[in-house]
Amino acid sequence: MPAHFLLTATARNFTLEDLEGMTEARARDYFARCRWGDEGTQVCPECGTIDKHYWIRTRKQWRCKEIACGRFFSVTSGTKFADHKLPLRKILKAALIFAANVKGISASALARQINVAYQTAFVLLHKLREGIAEECSPAQLDGIVHMDGAHVSGRLRKPRVKEPTNKAQARDRVDVAANPTHRNRRIVMVMRTVSPEKGKGAVRTVVEVTRGETAEIAAALAKKYIKRDATVHTDEHPAYSGFMARYDHETVNHSTHFSSDAGVSNNQAESYFARMRRMVIGQVHRVTPRYMVSYAREVAWREDNRRMPPSVLVKDLVKASLRRAARDWCGYWQRKRRRTEDIFEP
Ligand SMILES: [Zn+2]
Repeated sequence: MPAHFLLTATARNFTLEDLEGMTEARARDYFARCRWGDEGTQVCPECGTIDKHYWIRTRKQWRCKEIACGRFFSVTSGTKFADHKLPLRKILKAALIFAANVKGISASALARQINVAYQTAFVLLHKLREGIAEECSPAQLDGIVHMDGAHVSGRLRKPRVKEPTNKAQARDRVDVAANPTHRNRRIVMVMRTVSPEKGKGAVRTVVEVTRGETAEIAAALAKKYIKRDATVHTDEHPAYSGFMARYDHETVNHSTHFSSDAGVSNNQAESYFARMRRMVIGQVHRVTPRYMVSYAREVAWREDNRRMPPSVLVKDLVKASLRRAARDWCGYWQRKRRRTEDIFEP
């Protein structure tokens, strides 16, 4: 049996040790390669001219060769890290720590590791997550698809005392029956294409945050994300009972099996939730509805890239963050915040 990927030497092909002696100039070269493909030519963010633009050493910027343009630009102009105050080396270090922590990392833990304020780490991590979300492919899933929903955040607090012995305790009890759902309760719905090769697991994952695991929501999600001729595996939750009409639908009864005698399971959906739960409980601790989908997509990215070496993951993260400007994370602590929640509505 081959060793677990994370125990192989490939999983250590890019580590903090490699960043130790890196100068800011070399970090800039790394970013330039990620952004433009090579260190020799740049693309002007203003007019799009591809050339070996003038390097202005004192400003650490290029000046566009196009006379009519003449714009000064840096390796991060027009990207998520535009106007960054952190050295590029530190951003690279953060991307590496993010990639190496396979169950995710909290902003407070990152802040202590790279010596930045909590607020800085929080925004930096969200910029990486925004990049990940923008890279999601719009193609529909086909082949065998495992689908499921789970409740990962927003739970009612348990009462302080189990059996009240006096009136005050009885008054303080949280009445779960009268107040069955927490206002932050959301459901993460996951759909994953499973590799036809045995033992390879899932290959592509799509997630959405919804208000419930209902038939209406499940049908709308499947219509949007799953090809008509796919085989869909779910548990016996009533939300999926209408799937027979549209798909080759197989179910596994979770009250008796994890995998039926015919080999039907939705274990790949379960392994997504295993990682999601470990991240929420063990690392980030609290996920608010407004940004829940960012965390859900981060976990999908981690799951789909679980056998990728860190050198590839870091390059992916940097590339994704240089593709376009930040949408939600410019001036977050100056109260420029997104007001709406990113939630899937059928
Ligand atoms: Zn230009």
